[in-house]
Amino acid sequence: MLKVTALPASNLQHHECESIREGDWIIYRCPKCDYELRDNWRTGDLKVINAKVEIKHSGSYFPTAYQEAYENLN
Ligand SMILES: [Zn+2]
Repeated sequence: MLKVTALPASNLQHHECESIREGDWIIYRCPKCDYELRDNWRTGDLKVINAKVEIKHSGSYFPTAYQEAYENLN
């Protein structure tokens, strides 16, 4: 029996992040790796920690405008 070991199109992974509110910061933390995105709703500051090109991250609590800005980072 033939066993498929790799996806044909791309090896891009997708991780779903959990969002946590911490003072002025909304933190999107990945439970699968050490990725973290910090969004300061007061100053508009955006910090990405441990971003990985081969892994696409998204959070389910993103407002549409933030989702677009976030996806442009990759
Ligand atoms: Zn991740």
